[in-house]
Amino acid sequence: MPTRDQLLALTDELRRLKAGGERRVAVADESLELLRAAVKIRAAEWTEATVVADVAEVAAVEVRSPEPIPFAPREISVPVAAVPRAAPLPGPAKFSAAPPVVPVLAGDKTARWEALRELVRNDPVCRAQAGPGKKIVLGAGSLEAAIVFIGEAPGAEEEVQGEPFVGEAGQLLTKMIQGMGPRREQVYLCNVMNWRPAIPTGPGDVQLGNRPPTAEEMNYCLPYLRAQIEIVQPQVIVALGATAAGALLGAHTFKALGEIKGRWHEFAGRPVMVTYHPSYVLRSNSSRAKRAVWEDLLQVMERVGLTPTEKQRGFFL
Ligand code: URA
Repeated sequence: MPTRDQLLALTDELRRLKAGGERRVAVADESLELLRAAVKIRAAEWTEATVVADVAEVAAVEVRSPEPIPFAPREISVPVAAVPRAAPLPGPAKFSAAPPVVPVLAGDKTARWEALRELVRNDPVCRAQAGPGKKIVLGAGSLEAAIVFIGEAPGAEEEVQGEPFVGEAGQLLTKMIQGMGPRREQVYLCNVMNWRPAIPTGPGDVQLGNRPPTAEEMNYCLPYLRAQIEIVQPQVIVALGATAAGALLGAHTFKALGEIKGRWHEFAGRPVMVTYHPSYVLRSNSSRAKRAVWEDLLQVMERVGLTPTEKQRGFFL
């Protein structure tokens, strides 16, 4: 059963999505059941009308996943209670900092990567944005990798461990990479962002949700992403989800991820395959979504000379 803080974090995230124009959201059946139960139980437990209103809003909002989903989203229609709303939390603090200029780094790949890591770790903007006790996250994996996977931003687990893709989405990604053949350590995993974009929470509250980075935040981190790609020099880049695809190809080049997914594009002179983010696959909890990603990864395998076996071709069918 979600706690009060979790429900408040959820309502904050839904308000943010709503403010951004989203009107529908895909919700797994079991999550829907939990929310329905929470609306009943918490409404009875809490006397604050505002919290009850917020929870009722969770059940009433109609938001759609930013990525096209291969099945119809469930629509939820619980009427919003006519009680006063809590004052909305402020949006993310306005970010404005000129992107860093990464100097030419000398030495072999390892020396250059380590120099880059020092630059990022000592970057005052990254340090301030990551916040006290949280780690700045640079990419990890093989500097000889043929494939670089790029995600959006570190999440809660990643900012604690200081490594990309170590949470639930990362575990799914790791399984998919192993399905392709290589071990996780043989590819390179990174994000557009080097820190987890903060969502303002109430005093003392822990940030439970994630928000996509703003264009300004992404622009700040892009020189570091470019530097990593220049060091690794992969044969292929895989952009995971709309944020990574937008950062590499330009957000103006597509409206929905489906327009560019599963096709080859280019960034920094290297082929880019765009596919769904593993978090989206987790959210949709369907073999169809896994298969949709897998078909893109089969193309990546072919491109780097890892000819898929018949068994691999049939995964998630
Ligand atoms: N999602 C991302 O985009 N990157 C991570 O490192 C983890 C989750």
